[in-house]
Amino acid sequence: MKDQSERRRQMVADHVARRGVRDPRVLDALETVPREVFVPDHLVELAYEDAPVPLEHGQVVSRPVLVGWMAEALNLRPGDRVLEVGTGSGYTAAVLSRIVASVYTIERYPDVAERARTRVEGLGYGNVFVRSGDGSLGWPDQAPFDAILVEAGAPQIPQALREQLAVGGQLLVPVGETPRTQRLLRVVRLSESRFAEQDLGAVRFVPLTGEAGFGEKVSTRRAPRPLPTTPAQWIEMAAEPFRDIDSADLQPILDRIGDARVVLLGEATHGTCQFYRMRARITQALVERRGFNLVAVEADWPDAARIDHHVRDLDRPPATWKAFARFPTWMWRNAETAAFVEWLRGWNGARPRKERASFHGLDLYSLFTSIEAVLDYLDDVDPEVANIARERYGCLMPWQDDPATYGRAAVTGAYAGCEDAVAAMLTELLARREDYAAADGDRFLEAAQNARVVANAEQYYRVMYYGARASWNLRDRHMFDTLQTLLGARGPGAKAVVWAHNSHIGDARATEMGGGGELNIGQLCREAYGDEAYLVGFGTDHGTVAAASFWDGAMEIKHVRPALRDSYEGLCHQSGVRRFFLPLRDADEALREQLLGPRLNRAIGVIYRPETELQSHYFQSVLPRQFDEYIWFDETSAVRPLSTVEVGPDLPETWPFGY
Ligand code: SAH
Repeated sequence: MKDQSERRRQMVADHVARRGVRDPRVLDALETVPREVFVPDHLVELAYEDAPVPLEHGQVVSRPVLVGWMAEALNLRPGDRVLEVGTGSGYTAAVLSRIVASVYTIERYPDVAERARTRVEGLGYGNVFVRSGDGSLGWPDQAPFDAILVEAGAPQIPQALREQLAVGGQLLVPVGETPRTQRLLRVVRLSESRFAEQDLGAVRFVPLTGEAGFGEKVSTRRAPRPLPTTPAQWIEMAAEPFRDIDSADLQPILDRIGDARVVLLGEATHGTCQFYRMRARITQALVERRGFNLVAVEADWPDAARIDHHVRDLDRPPATWKAFARFPTWMWRNAETAAFVEWLRGWNGARPRKERASFHGLDLYSLFTSIEAVLDYLDDVDPEVANIARERYGCLMPWQDDPATYGRAAVTGAYAGCEDAVAAMLTELLARREDYAAADGDRFLEAAQNARVVANAEQYYRVMYYGARASWNLRDRHMFDTLQTLLGARGPGAKAVVWAHNSHIGDARATEMGGGGELNIGQLCREAYGDEAYLVGFGTDHGTVAAASFWDGAMEIKHVRPALRDSYEGLCHQSGVRRFFLPLRDADEALREQLLGPRLNRAIGVIYRPETELQSHYFQSVLPRQFDEYIWFDETSAVRPLSTVEVGPDLPETWPFGY
């Protein structure tokens, strides 16, 4: 027995207090009540794990942390009379009875109620009264109650329970339209007729049956399942499933995102329809409901600027070059992106200019289009400086078709190099900020960023000569700096959504990249913003993807091989849940432990080589450290690339893709 009380103390410290439950009377009660009495004999070993334990009829004994959290939320006082709906094992009632004067508890299954009664009586807890019946109607004979706790999910707040609250008393009830996920609501009775409601967050309880519940037909009868033993089963338990992208309930992920200023949405490939569509939906919600006003994607700055002009309806001279016309064209020139772009334009259309959300490219592969853009700008605002710029940038012009060769020639001394020229141009442009920005701040920002892209890209191609790591780091730093510049330019309330590959977004320190000295934008955001950066990864098992076989190759629709069994993707697939959100930041310790790995994780870029998949596309990572959340689509399909023909003649001239 001594041993058990020690384990109980440990459980309260590790799983309850550490998770933020502070009320000493609640912690005391949890340390006092012998939880092992309330779990079935063969599961006694689990009594002090932080886990729900299965009961008869497919029900469960609540997790200690949940009991603690709810008891604390009820602000109980010693003299209170409490009603509990959903006795189950009787554990929660027993804990509450150590805090208040009396606990009335109702359970729909007579046999379950009977066993609970035997347990509390056996412990000598004389202030617990158990009854079987339909708790959705309350316990009118004993009303009013100072506090009411419902431990099963209701379709709406049961009217009878409101009425049985004493004035000043409060009710906690999980409410959700479907029987499987709910929001925990707090209802406080302010006077005879006035009630206040508050949403305490997402929870998952078994359905409330009965008249004010889901009726008697609702099936709660999932055969009692043993607790998970494999990582895939843990994923199944923790996963929040959704049926399709359009109907998925985004409230829970928005709650988890909370007040974050930067939300990074990844992708496991550069050519999967579902990743684009889900990112678009989440981004729309962030723009509409959370005031996000910047969308920054892994695309070239001048090309994305074309989209920005379109979505913010900015008046810009027509350009002579096509946006997103270089390899890999399908990455942004696709139906999924176009749909999002049109949505954003529509959203912005109804808003004053200052409040419109903008769209930007973070990448630095646009050496020559950026040069052109700087020249175009200067031709307009300062033709004299334009001539100087032409001369300076002329140094790079011989290498238009092959900037990598420039890098090699400059490094080996075969060519003088243009480093000083491009740096001087950037400095010069920035020095004229006051003059230029006075006329049009947005346009200046755009041109200055193009000059920065030229300077960094010039360096990128030189550094490439020394190896992949240095150039990768330079690129991700550039993306991060660009994001910072954008947030800075938008002012203190600015909030950004970033779309880029998982390999840029998942914290590099949690992957083998980090071990090799590589960093990425996800890591830099975490370092800069802490919990105000929310990193979301996406994954898939099998399906089709748009990708090329080699750099500059044509786009093909390729089959994605089913994931390797022991990879993270393999585990998600084995969970049997086809589409889900998997919250990782505040996940159960047990789940995190199961997923600590490291394990293989798959990355498909613009090139996919299924024949050599293991060497080319898998790398080691620790998923729960890499991302704050992971979104899973078991089966996926390729993005739908746009061709010139499909775009159609009725679209405006400013159409971002440059037709
Ligand atoms: N607090 C319990 C767990 C409750 S599980 C513990 O710690 O063990 C939810 C319980 O609510 C189940 O036992 C289920 O049978 C019961 N229940 C569901 N609908 C009910 C209703 N309308 N009236 C009473 N009990 C109900």
